[in-house]
Amino acid sequence: MFIAHLPAGYLLARGLQRATGQRNAGFLATGCVASVLPDTDLAWFYLVDNRQTPHHDYLFHAPFFWVAVCTIGWALGRLLGMARARAYAGFALAGLLLHMALDSFAADIRWLWPFTDTRFEFTRVPDQGYDWWVWNFVLHWTFAAELALCVCALGLLISDLRNSPSTK
Ligand SMILES: [Zn+2]
Repeated sequence: MFIAHLPAGYLLARGLQRATGQRNAGFLATGCVASVLPDTDLAWFYLVDNRQTPHHDYLFHAPFFWVAVCTIGWALGRLLGMARARAYAGFALAGLLLHMALDSFAADIRWLWPFTDTRFEFTRVPDQGYDWWVWNFVLHWTFAAELALCVCALGLLISDLRNSPSTK
C-alpha cells in the first residue's frame, strides 16, 4: 500500500471514537500516527540496509512486536496511574494492525512471526516490466481501493471540520 495508510488510519480511529464514545483528539492522532509508523522502517531500508532485505521483513512489520509494545505501554501507563493508557494503547494497536492488514492486501506480511515465517498476502502485484517499479502498483486494481479510501477519508475529514464546534 502506498498512499492510503494515513487515510485508512483516520477512518479507523474516527470509527473507533464513535463506537467507543472515546472522542478525544489525542486518540484520533494516536490512531493516525500508528497507521503509518511501521513504514518508518523505510529509513533503515534505504539509508542503512542498502535495500538488502524487504522492509516488510523488519521488526516494524511484525504484528506481534507491536502487540508486545502496546501491551507494555499499557501496563506502564497503568502502573503510572495514567487513566487513559488502555485507550491510547488500543487506538495505537488498532492503527498498527490496520497498517499490516492493508500491507497484506498486495504484499506479504509474516503475521505469525516469530512463531512461523509463513507469509500472508491477499493478491500479488505482478511485475509488468515498467521502467519504474511503482507503476506496477499504481496501475494495479488494488490502487483503486487505495484511492477509494483516500476519497472517503477526505470527504469525512472535510465534513468533520465543517461540523466542528470550533468552526461554528
Ligand atoms: Zn508498511
